[in-house]
Amino acid sequence: MNRVLVPELAAAPRPPRGTTPFVLSGESMGTTWNVQAFAPSAYSIDALLRAIEWALASVVSEMSTWEAGSDISRFNALEPGAWATIPGGFRTVLACALEVADRTDGAFNPCIGALVDLWGFGARAPAHEIPPNDHIEAALRAADRSALAFGAERGRLRQPGGLRLDFSGIAKGFAVDEVARVLTRVGLNSYLVEIGGEVRGAGIKPDGLPWWVEIERPPGCPSMPIIVALHGISIATSGDYRRNAILDGKRIAHTIDPRTGRPLENDVASVTVLHPSCMHADALATAFLVTGAAIGKAFADAEGVAAIWITRTPEGFSETHSAAFTRMLGE
Ligand code: AMP
Ligand code: MG
Repeated sequence: MNRVLVPELAAAPRPPRGTTPFVLSGESMGTTWNVQAFAPSAYSIDALLRAIEWALASVVSEMSTWEAGSDISRFNALEPGAWATIPGGFRTVLACALEVADRTDGAFNPCIGALVDLWGFGARAPAHEIPPNDHIEAALRAADRSALAFGAERGRLRQPGGLRLDFSGIAKGFAVDEVARVLTRVGLNSYLVEIGGEVRGAGIKPDGLPWWVEIERPPGCPSMPIIVALHGISIATSGDYRRNAILDGKRIAHTIDPRTGRPLENDVASVTVLHPSCMHADALATAFLVTGAAIGKAFADAEGVAAIWITRTPEGFSETHSAAFTRMLGE
């Protein structure tokens, strides 16, 4: 048995007529991407592949901290007081990241790059030991987002000194939105876009069925699967099982608690957020992992966001649903 989640629709989508299915995939942003769609039979899939690859390459060249020459890396290396001009995608992501940071009381913080590097999850060498307290405190001071001066309209950004941006908690979602935009622009309206587990879907298939996607669950979680009809909506999941490291013999999470500057330690195994924008879903999923289920649910309910937390308890896994999620499940 599955539980079924169907978003409310303003208008029923129409199935694409006279189309054939295709699949495109590749690697980008340190992970894999996959597009499934229906296109008119004589469609130039090669041209579409090039447009998708170009969109992804542009996200990497603006926002990858793994590329020394990217806009983000160049900003991170600036002298204190220097200004950078940042390109459009970077601007959109930074504005959304700061908005989610404000709305979640700083649980999401795009300025924690120095901490991510210090704990060995960035592009610098992996850590083998727990860093000394004074290093943690210095990296935490450098993560103060109020020190950032951002002129969103003109795309100007001031480096306060030592502040390192990290968009790994939001950029994959943005890239999904960008690929979806490429598909829409060329007239395709029935597709599923997935990058590293973040997914966005649109339309329905020629047979009238929606794009069903199962909500990711932590390994070993026995609860009944929830499948979502992904029309005009995105799903992003953050989980403690997705990436971690062993430091001084202890398993640590790759998500940083921006209040302590240390890897997150709480009972949340995974959080999934549904949102029309995959960029928002991605940032909110990371934020809600940090807040935990109780505070996260209060935030989500105040703003009508659909989210599910799977937490670890002594009795096994437990689920918390936001009000909007419960509504979509029809419970
Ligand atoms: P995600 O898998 O989307 O939850 O993103 C995790 C990545 O986001 C980590 O590998 C870090 O690079 C970055 N990150 C860690 N903690 C935070 C945080 N509290 N706010 C924003 N980004 C974070
Ligand atoms: Mg995220």
